[in-house]
Amino acid sequence: MNWLRNFMMGRYGPDALSLFLIVVSLICTLTSSLFGGVLVLILISYILWFWVIFRLLSRNIAARQKENETFLQMVGWLRDHTTGIRGWFRTQSNRFRDRKTHKYFRCPTCHQMVRVPKNKGKVRIICPKCKNEFIRQTGKSPAQKAREEQARADKAAQKAAKKADKASKK
Ligand SMILES: [Zn+2]
Repeated sequence: MNWLRNFMMGRYGPDALSLFLIVVSLICTLTSSLFGGVLVLILISYILWFWVIFRLLSRNIAARQKENETFLQMVGWLRDHTTGIRGWFRTQSNRFRDRKTHKYFRCPTCHQMVRVPKNKGKVRIICPKCKNEFIRQTGKSPAQKAREEQARADKAAQKAAKKADKASKK
C-alpha cells in the first residue's frame, strides 16, 4: 500500500462532505433502479462520484477544507431550524409506541404535549411547563368498566323478571 500513500501525498483525501456525496449518489442509484432506470438520477450519481474523486485527489487542500466547512455549517443550520419538525415526529412516534398505555393531551394554555396513563377516568392534569391545571377524560378504569357491566347486567335481569311476571299474570 506504499504506492497508495505516495499517490495520496499532498492530496486532500476523504471528509464529511465526500461521505455525504457518496450517500446521496447511492440513494440516486437505488431510486433509479427502483423505477427501472431513471436517466437523470443515473447522471446525477455519476456527477457526484466524479465530484468525490476530484475532491479526494485535489491538491488544493485549503479550498476543499473551506467547502467542507460550508457543508458542516449548512448541516448545523438545518439542525437548528428543524427542531420543531423533528420534535413533532418524535412525539408522533412516541404516541404510537404508547398508544395502549398512555394518552397525549395538549395544554390549552401553552400548547405543551402532556403524556398521562390511560384508563384512569377523569384526571386533573398539571402542565409540567406552565403549571396550568386542566381536566381530561383518559378512558374508563377497569373497575369503572366492571361497575358499568354489572349495572347493565342488573338492568337486564330486572327487565327479564318483569317480563316473566307479566307472562305469569296472563
Ligand atoms: Zn402548559
